[in-house]
Amino acid sequence: MQVSNILGKRSGLLGKRCLSSLYDQYQKEALSNPTGFWGKHAENLVWDKKWDKVVDTSNPPFTKWFSGGWMNMCYNCVDRHVDSGNGEKSALIWDSPVTNSPIRHMSYNELQDKVSKLARCLVKMGVEPGDRVLIYMPMILEGAVAMLACARIGAIHNVVFGGFASKELSVRIDASKPRVIIAGSNGVMPGKTVQFQPIIDKAMEMSTFKPQYTIYKNRSIETSAVVNGKTVLDFDELLDSVSTGHDCVSLPADHPLYLLYTSGTTGTPKAVQRNAADYATVLLYTMKNEFDLNPDEVWFSATDYGWVVGHSYCVYAPLLSRNPSIIFEGKPVGTPDASTIHRILSEHDVRSAFASPSIMRILCREEPEGTAGDAYPRPNFGTMFLAGERCDIGTLLWVRDTLKLNPVDHYWQTESGTPILMPPVALGEKVDCNGSAGKSSVGNNILIVDDQGNVLPDGEFGQIVAKLPLRPGFFPTLFQNDSAYAEKYFTDFPGYYNTFDAGYRDSEGNVFVMARTDDIINVGAVRLSTGAVEEAIAHHELISECAVVGQDDPLMGERPLGFVVMTPGSELTSEITKEVIKLVRDHIGPHTGLQELLQVERLPKTISQKILRNMMVAIVNNKPYKVSPTIDDPTVVGEIVECVESWREGLSN
Ligand code: AMP
Repeated sequence: MQVSNILGKRSGLLGKRCLSSLYDQYQKEALSNPTGFWGKHAENLVWDKKWDKVVDTSNPPFTKWFSGGWMNMCYNCVDRHVDSGNGEKSALIWDSPVTNSPIRHMSYNELQDKVSKLARCLVKMGVEPGDRVLIYMPMILEGAVAMLACARIGAIHNVVFGGFASKELSVRIDASKPRVIIAGSNGVMPGKTVQFQPIIDKAMEMSTFKPQYTIYKNRSIETSAVVNGKTVLDFDELLDSVSTGHDCVSLPADHPLYLLYTSGTTGTPKAVQRNAADYATVLLYTMKNEFDLNPDEVWFSATDYGWVVGHSYCVYAPLLSRNPSIIFEGKPVGTPDASTIHRILSEHDVRSAFASPSIMRILCREEPEGTAGDAYPRPNFGTMFLAGERCDIGTLLWVRDTLKLNPVDHYWQTESGTPILMPPVALGEKVDCNGSAGKSSVGNNILIVDDQGNVLPDGEFGQIVAKLPLRPGFFPTLFQNDSAYAEKYFTDFPGYYNTFDAGYRDSEGNVFVMARTDDIINVGAVRLSTGAVEEAIAHHELISECAVVGQDDPLMGERPLGFVVMTPGSELTSEITKEVIKLVRDHIGPHTGLQELLQVERLPKTISQKILRNMMVAIVNNKPYKVSPTIDDPTVVGEIVECVESWREGLSN
């Protein structure tokens, strides 16, 4: 791993160690006695049959939790609260400034009714435990209903972000082979409506596998029809067609709850699998002990169902711990302005919230003086948790000092399902807004290692890894691909999970996450594979080769920048750039943020013809770099530097 060579040692970060805090006690117990610690927390759920063994580590890198136990996630999220007399309480609160709709509260009673009826309909369509259901929804309550209906009957849901275009959707259809698709008829953006049906129809044309049914939550279109030989049904009519719901199906602890496809390093998405029981245990634990919430306090996670935070902290965790969860269909600005987030916090008396640093940067750019919130008092607000990308200290301090929202940066991944690093604020420790994402969350043992897997001393820069066993909720495997799981994440550093992030740790155990070490970049807290963007660009007939790298961006964190080699005789024009940007939008979606291409004669490569992307990233971002000794032709470096410098000059003129 070259990062350590480039950036060298960090020092002077050592602070005072606070001994024997509540965090230290919990962490010691969770690491030395995971059976006792997680067994105790699992008791807070309702089990149909108690487990035989809390944790089984006999087949590394695979960890099995709660073997022999049986339960149902949906029961624990919904029916449990109805059965305990809380059925009238708000489970979900829909706040949709983009559609100007009235705010809608959905109680546990209503949620149970809708979820169980949809579950009944799915069973009638032949959906069985283990079958996949693909969900392609905007941020409407039916998205959560669909997820929970799957969980109720043991169908494995695969939510696909509504911003993905047909090609990415078709890839996920072929990969997960869903029996049914549940979709919204359209998504609403400020000033425009995106029809989902044509996107789905096109995806179905492209895919080899054809799901049998598509159910639309009708916001505008004709349904109850047959399109391309497949049955298209209306969500509401379907629910009205059944008089009784379906009960929760008891499932083994390791039954998969959902799949979530993340960008893979080759451009092919891989399916992170999540099992229900250990996930439920850790989610419930985190709401009190990491996000500091008591039941009935309102929680707001400003994200989308399509991402992991949408699964964990819009739906499952708040429902498990009975925190009304705000489902937000809107944007930080433009729906109608920068006051929206403040209005939500005030109007719903939100106790704590979750957002990405990009949202905060957008608010800061729009309204740096931060007065948009003045009209919205929030006497009970606790903490603004930020994650998804590195939060620069300037933004953290702005959120703290101008918005007065007590920001807490923490770090996690789709793979982990819950925080990996977190300042233990809920266990009584203070937060420094110093750029660290916190300590190992309880039950995770995060270390910094060198290229050979040796644990590095505090302050030294290296690869961030997690020692096995990983805490509950971490993905137990990649769906139907144990070998790729073991190979991708556990071979570089045997005994450790490779996060593919690099950073360093201070003497108190705070970890600073600094750089990604594979081809993933983070655009507005959304993980994007530069390989996937390259694949899309390569479809242009006049481009013979390309390399996409992450360019630091003050607003989005990073943005993709494309270097292209044109076919002989052709030149890059603004027209071609537009065509390429459209290609990328059509293949992946509008959220990639690709805006620019730079034409070069050649790409820098090793003797074995691997593109030296790390060096290009450093050149683009004006950082120090070393020319690899295995470079094929060192003179290419000068060409790249020259190209980047004249581009930069163009930008500043
Ligand atoms: P995703 O799986 O899409 O949530 O992306 C996970 C990646 O986002 C991580 O591997 C990091 O590269 C990045 N990330 C998430 N949270 C943080 C954070 N607090 N600081 C730095 N990077 C972060």
